This record gives sequence, C-alpha cells and structure tokens, in this order.
Amino acid sequence: MRKHIDIKLFILPVLIIVSLIIISFVFSSQIKILKQQIDNIYFANYVTIDKLHNIKQDYIKVVYGKKNIPKYKKSILKNWNYYIKQYKTQKEKQIIKKINKQILLSFRKKHFKNIQKSLYSITYLIKYEKNSAYEQRKKFLQKYNSMKSYLLYIQIVVILFTVVISSWILYIHNRYTKDLEILNQKYKVEANTDGLTKLYNRKYFDKIFDQFIPISKENNINSVFVMIDIDFFKQYNDTYGYDAGDIALKKVAFALDDIFKKDYEFVFRLGGEEFGIVIFNTNLNYIKFMLEQLKKHIASLKIAHKASQTGYLTLSMGVVYCDKSKYNLLPRDIYNQADKKLYHSKQNGRDQYTI
Ligand code: GH3
Ligand code: MG
Ligand code: MG
Repeated sequence: MRKHIDIKLFILPVLIIVSLIIISFVFSSQIKILKQQIDNIYFANYVTIDKLHNIKQDYIKVVYGKKNIPKYKKSILKNWNYYIKQYKTQKEKQIIKKINKQILLSFRKKHFKNIQKSLYSITYLIKYEKNSAYEQRKKFLQKYNSMKSYLLYIQIVVILFTVVISSWILYIHNRYTKDLEILNQKYKVEANTDGLTKLYNRKYFDKIFDQFIPISKENNINSVFVMIDIDFFKQYNDTYGYDAGDIALKKVAFALDDIFKKDYEFVFRLGGEEFGIVIFNTNLNYIKFMLEQLKKHIASLKIAHKASQTGYLTLSMGVVYCDKSKYNLLPRDIYNQADKKLYHSKQNGRDQYTI
C-alpha cells in the first residue's frame, strides 16, 4: 500500500514537468511562426518596392532616353495601381494622393516638368518604403528577442519552482514513511507475540510506545493510547474457572484485533486482563466511533458473567489523545494518564471509556 502511494507521488511532479516542457515548446514554436510571418511581410514589401523600381525605370527612359511617355503609360499605371492597392497609413495615403495627381498629369502632352517631378517622387517613395520596412523589421526583431528570453526565464523559474515543491513533498512524505516504517513491520514473530491471545506482547508494546511521542511530534500527527481492562475478571475466574477465563480473554483479544486492524493501529496485551491500543495519525471522532463499535461488539458476544452488574462481560477503558499539547510529555506520563482515565471509568460504573 505504501509503495503504491510512493509511485503516485513520484508520477505527479514528472507529469507537471513534462506538461510544462510541452507548453513551452508550443509557445516557442508559436512565436517562431510569428517571426516567419513578419519576415514574409518584410520580403513582400520588396515586391512593392520592385514595382516602384519599374516605374522609375520607365520615367528614366522618358527623361534621359528622350522616349515618348504614351508608350510607357500602360506599364507605369499597371505598376502604380499595384503599389497603391497595398496597405497604407492615413498619412501615407495623403502623400500618395498628391503623387498620383503628378503621375496622371505626367501623361498629358507638354508636361515634362510633371514627368521629372514624378520621377523624383517615385525615387522618394522607394527610399521611404525601404526605410520603413527596415525599421519595422528591426523593431519587431528587438521585441521578438526580448520576448524569447522573457519566456525562457519564465519557463526556467516555473520548472525550478515545480522541482523544488515536488522534492519538498517527496522529502516530507519520505520522512513520514521512514519514521513509520518500523511500525509497518507488523510481523508477528514469537518474541513479539503473547502466547495466549496472539496479540503483541508487553515487550513489543514497550518498544512501540517509546516511539509514541517522537513519531507523533516529528510527523505532526495526532495519536491515541487506549488502556483496556476487563471488568470483574477475578470474579469471572472464580465463577467459571481459570480455563474459562482464558477463553474469555481470547475472545476479547480476537474482538480487539478484528476491530483495530488498519495500518498504524496496534493491539497489545499489556498483562493479565489488560490490553492496550496504540493508533498513530488519527482523530478524536474516529476514536470515539471505534470505541463505541468495540463496546457494541463485546456486548454482542454476550459472554455471560453473573457477578457483573450487566450480567455479561464488559470492558473499562482509559483514553489519552495525544495532540501538539502533549508532544513534550514522556511515554510514562501518557501511560499514567491513561491509567488514571481507566480508574475513572471503573469508579464511574465500569463498561465505559474516559478520554
Ligand atoms: P476490575 O473490574 O476492577 O478490573 O476487577 P478485576 O477483578 O478485573 O481486577 P483485578 O485486577 O483484581 O483482577 C484481575 C484478574 O485477572 C486476576 C487474575 O486472576 C486474572 N488474570 C490475570 N491473568 C490471567 C490469565 O492469563 N488468565 C486468566 N484466566 N485470568 C487471568
Ligand atoms: Mg486489572
Ligand atoms: Mg479488571
């Protein structure tokens, strides 16, 4: 059972880290695509600049080659229309409107001045387009680079954070299981076992009970010690005989073992007709519920006991609930407190528990 939890705990941080790596991979591939698009836009700009170049060449032929403007009108207009269809800002649109007028005027007869002006304007536009494409790309690349390193830092921080948190969880959990490991050795070798009841014996109780406070304190858990004593047992022996007493002891032991069988629940025969229960990592409601169950269970056994006030064999119990406030006590103190509570149960009419 413990091993199962270990693997689960280990899988969780690995899953988180793997998903983080996948997310960062998707992230960086997305901004790479963005960069490619900007590159495409940048080079697409060169197509428009190329059109302007064609117009410039045509005007140069007219101005310096003394060619006739009507011959080039079609090709100039084709390139010009392509150019003005491209996206322009409001300011650019105004300038282009002016140049457009010049170009249209340049096709009229005897407008040599407008031809020269158009050539000048086109040259200006080429320079302007080249510059703005370059500036835009430069700006984007700067942003792209800072964004890339920003994302990288965030990824590193998040991954480091996850690693630290998961190692911390693993460490806490490991410490917890390591401490409780000695308790997990629920092997019943003869040296630990009581011959009559087959419960853990007094010797093993002393070993576990020594760890009662240290383990609770170190793991910051609440634990409980219950001391149990059979009521009027001397009279039981006197009435039914010592052998019948042994059988009754076995029945009670079997009931205890049957009810408290979870991990970290230990049932001991402390001696004679006295038993002890040690439960690590528990809470008061659970204890109360379990002791009620135990009472019902013993009652349902209906072990006849004439000398007892109920007519049946019953148990009295003293319970010490060990939370933070008791972390500084010694095992002996806990034991004595339980003994006192048990005495109170006896004084109060037996067949009950006192916490
Ligand atoms: P109380 O309700 O106050 O606990 O009364 P009690 O008679 O149970 O008290 P006491 O401690 O005086 O009696 C315990 C008896 O348990 C005495 C002893 O004969 C008996 N006993 C102890 N160990 C064994 C055992 O192994 N077998 C049997 N049959 N009886 C045992
Ligand atoms: Mg006793
Ligand atoms: Mg007794």
